[in-house]
Amino acid sequence: MTLSPPENPVVVSVDVEDWYHGPTAAACFGTRHDVAPALASVPQPERGLPYLEAVLGLLAERQMRATFFWVAEYARRFPDALRRCVAAGHEIACHGLTHFPKFNPATKQPNFTPAEFKARSGDARKILEDLAGRRVIGYRAPNAYIAGWMLDALEELGFAYDSSVSVNSLYNKTDEPQLTGVDTRPYFPARGTLRRGAERRGLIEFPWPYFQLGGLKIQSAGGPYLRFFGSSLVLAGLRQSLRRGPTIFYFHPVDICREPIPLPFSWKRPMMWWFKGDLVRHRIARVLDGIRRQTVAFDDIVGSVKIL
Ligand SMILES: [Zn+2]
Repeated sequence: MTLSPPENPVVVSVDVEDWYHGPTAAACFGTRHDVAPALASVPQPERGLPYLEAVLGLLAERQMRATFFWVAEYARRFPDALRRCVAAGHEIACHGLTHFPKFNPATKQPNFTPAEFKARSGDARKILEDLAGRRVIGYRAPNAYIAGWMLDALEELGFAYDSSVSVNSLYNKTDEPQLTGVDTRPYFPARGTLRRGAERRGLIEFPWPYFQLGGLKIQSAGGPYLRFFGSSLVLAGLRQSLRRGPTIFYFHPVDICREPIPLPFSWKRPMMWWFKGDLVRHRIARVLDGIRRQTVAFDDIVGSVKIL
């Protein structure tokens, strides 16, 4: 099966983090900067890392190049794992310093000042560039919590693109009061906002795809939506989004782990890890097979993407 229209590519991306970086666990650590001390009490808590090789295998079998968004503190602790991604020819991009969200969508308030965000993002980028031995030009916001002021800081740091904006009916993880002014194709945002700007600038936004059912727009980029709702929804959303322009698919190594997720801390979302392991590995493979003739990494297209 090939999605249409074939002239638009699907960027395959992998967010390299572990279960303890996600909102279910990270919000319970009592610290907003560093999860490592709390994890010291859990022997061998990593569930994503052991499955990174399986992810590289899924891509290698299909001769696909992808973008790996790494949490910098995770990469610092497991540098050989990042280097395996580099050796396999994939792009390395930035998924924050510790994966703590920079922005609270409930209050619409930032968790960091712009200066703090810029410093932390610069530190994260330097860690990843030193480990990878190459430039890092891409950013994805932890939990996809994104704001216009963050894009300005990322551009000042020299990032060339961001891929965090999700236009859908189920949540708004941004500081825009409503997402009606936010584009759903790759676009240049206006300064200080996520809305489309009139002029070209040094940073491109690659929004996430959605599946539209009547008036309802359902996120279909992957991640938890692939785990909960399956590959048919994701493929249907990718198909619709490709009519608008280049789009993206993403997943996490931890999505395919077979072992139970250790949850020694308070547990707020009991269904979060119901679906994972081989079932999800099969779903990822099905999506990859559905898009295999038209996949790229972000750095394959960021300099040449056509902005409509
Ligand atoms: Zn993440």
